[in-house]
Amino acid sequence: MNIAQVIVDVPTMQTDQPFSYLIPEEMLTVIEPGMRVEVPFGNGNRHIQGFVVELTQLQESEHELKELIRPLDVTPVLNQELLALADYMKEETFSFKITCLQTMLPSVLKAKYDKQIQVLVPSALPKEWQEFFAQGVVPYEEAIQQMGIAAIQKLRQAGILDIQYLVKKQNRVQAIKMVYSTVTAENYQQFVQSIRKGATRKVQLLERLTQVPKRKLQEYLDEGISRAVINQAAKEGWLRIEEEERYRDPYANRSFAPSSPLQLNAEQEAALKACEQAEGQSQTFLLEGITGSGKTEVYLQAIASVLKKGKTAMMLVPEIALTPQMVERFKGRFGEAVAVLHSGLSQGEKYDEWRKIERKEAQVVVGARSAVFAPLEDIGLIVVDEEHESSYKQEETPRYHARDLALWRSKYHHCPVILGSATPSLESRARAQKDVYHFLQLSQRGNPNALLPSVAIIDMKQEIIRKDTTTFSRVLQEKIHDRLEKEEQVVLMLNRRGYSSFVMCRDCGFVLPCPNCDISLTLHMDTKTMRCHYCGHEERIPHQCPSCGSDKIRYYGTGTQKVQEELLQLFPEASVLRMDVDTTRKKGAHERILRAFSEKKASILLGTQMIAKGLDFPDITLVGVLNADTSLNLPDFRASERTFQLLTQVSGRAGRAQKPGEVIIQTFNPEHHAIVLSQQQNYEAFYQKEMHLRHQSDYPPYYFTVKIVASHEQEEPAARKMYQVFREVEQVLSPQAKILGPTPHAIMRIKNRYYYQIIIKYKREPQLASYLKELLERSQVDQRNGLFLSIDKEPLSFI
Ligand code: ADP
Ligand code: ZN
Ligand code: ZN
Repeated sequence: MNIAQVIVDVPTMQTDQPFSYLIPEEMLTVIEPGMRVEVPFGNGNRHIQGFVVELTQLQESEHELKELIRPLDVTPVLNQELLALADYMKEETFSFKITCLQTMLPSVLKAKYDKQIQVLVPSALPKEWQEFFAQGVVPYEEAIQQMGIAAIQKLRQAGILDIQYLVKKQNRVQAIKMVYSTVTAENYQQFVQSIRKGATRKVQLLERLTQVPKRKLQEYLDEGISRAVINQAAKEGWLRIEEEERYRDPYANRSFAPSSPLQLNAEQEAALKACEQAEGQSQTFLLEGITGSGKTEVYLQAIASVLKKGKTAMMLVPEIALTPQMVERFKGRFGEAVAVLHSGLSQGEKYDEWRKIERKEAQVVVGARSAVFAPLEDIGLIVVDEEHESSYKQEETPRYHARDLALWRSKYHHCPVILGSATPSLESRARAQKDVYHFLQLSQRGNPNALLPSVAIIDMKQEIIRKDTTTFSRVLQEKIHDRLEKEEQVVLMLNRRGYSSFVMCRDCGFVLPCPNCDISLTLHMDTKTMRCHYCGHEERIPHQCPSCGSDKIRYYGTGTQKVQEELLQLFPEASVLRMDVDTTRKKGAHERILRAFSEKKASILLGTQMIAKGLDFPDITLVGVLNADTSLNLPDFRASERTFQLLTQVSGRAGRAQKPGEVIIQTFNPEHHAIVLSQQQNYEAFYQKEMHLRHQSDYPPYYFTVKIVASHEQEEPAARKMYQVFREVEQVLSPQAKILGPTPHAIMRIKNRYYYQIIIKYKREPQLASYLKELLERSQVDQRNGLFLSIDKEPLSFI
């Protein structure tokens, strides 16, 4: 018997294993591991989707095996490597295999079901519904609406109705209708004669057909030649219409200036040589290079070198750094060989980029976090740029870290990995210290004419701030003036990490809360609404205090919009571009703003930390950080590290070419080491100091960490569960490990659920992994009572 081992699309612990299905004779040559199939499942034999993970042979089976229904793919969507990666990911992230498999695919390939209600016993159906079910089936949504879920459930229990699941195939490729001319010198005269007098469109069409042998149907329609005319011409043998598959290319209408390799400086050359020499080995490099030191140039040349050997390359960048400039550099260097994957693409565009990779038409993948799953084969090099970025970790299940998966893939392919950053994570830097990673450094700017900017710290406590602004120090105002006069460009960053603008009553102190979450609503001026950043709840801005009725209700906090207004008051002549979540919500907006700035349509770019990365414009000579502190005050052990990274990044935007740059950092904590050392652009000193602090308080990278969280609609069951887990964990762990908690989450209630957590810090705990797995297994029972448990290895934050 030929058996397919299938992971079914039912994310529960009981079903988190392959199920055996008989492969029908006619599908024997078709079914392969990595394909999606439709299978019957459970007692009702409902049709669901699954992934074939293995083909096996069986002599006989104790119980009767079900048969596969049909394959959903023509070729496997996951290769052997990615199937194996799913196994690793499952263990690392404590999630179900099916969840991992689906995470790896572009979203158009993820399961989608159409549900419908089917009548099993028409005669037993209540009279009132007989007509409704005249066809035997009704779409699920419609049935719910008309009958109510309770009625459906009752009839289903009685065996009169059932729910059917129809797997929808949605990996639609885009096809374009093309018109092929069949007009030749021989048949032309005959066609001309067949045209009736006055049929001008046909004359026009024939004319065109003699000129262009192949053209989009749409273009004819655009010229006013109707479809009727074309169809008739097809009948008469003038032309053929054929569908042609098309990629939706988001960069189709853009041309990229070709770029050629630069002459490397000595440090770059050494880094490149080291990577080239590691060919065929899964060696990890940490490339620590100051901003503008030419890391990207090293990546480009290292990639070129593996392409020359016929291999492929993957370059991961944080979502936010995937700027048009970065794409341009890659497309400019490698042209058609580049596939780009990021969240700004539509689902269809993403799917098409993915297919280019899968069909080996693209050899270089540039993409954000999920691009780590790109179906590249024979990888020769993996680059993780800005390796310290937290966006590489997915904040929902499966909680994978793209950097870890990149390292796994490098082992599989025996290829080197470059982790690059101006401010490496302490974890990676510490590994380089211990020679686990090979350490490479770039200490000079790549462009020999560019100097590191001079950085000044402004103590906002000392600063006598002018009456009309609380945002701009005198020094910063003077410098902005100066740049506007010289027609140079200014970048201003408002640090909004852990920060929001809200509405508060001056009389009673009332702050508008979200009805679903324990958090205040954030003011959004563009939509003139108050919005919850956790659950999306939205309501109008109150003009009266809902609590005491006072009309002294005021905005607090400095939103980018408010700063923009202040800026325009101070500098009425300045043109300001603003970049934040509000102005970049629309597709392509991010790119438009940056292009406008590069074309010098504005002299000031004001934005959130979104602007800290990737900008490489020669005329930026001043960078101002309006409030360095907000991220410093977060109750998170990584607060200093994040602040240092952010300040260093944004400072790096200034003076990248001939003109020297200047940076002004406004802060209330001018002595803090994260601020002082970012002023000196001294990562190594920061690393030493911060490691010392981490050591003193037993934080990573000296300890590994795991966060366990329980949530429930009521507070008590969540708390009770975490206390129970705490007692168990105490038994499992050795005395070296430390447990923090149980504590409620900093925002205890989110989307009407209460959260309790513990954090375990440990060095070596051989028992821990199996305990956590078992804990998760047991928690399946709790789920029926609405209690959810999640496990997060190396959480990004402790809150
Ligand atoms: P990073 O990625 O480290 O921030 P980039 O690769 O973006 O640095 O380089 C910064 C700037 O320096 C770019 O404008 C780049 O063209 C230039 N550059 C890099 N390497 C060289 C080099 N060897 N010679 C001249 N210019 C260089
Ligand atoms: Zn009030
Ligand atoms: Zn909410």
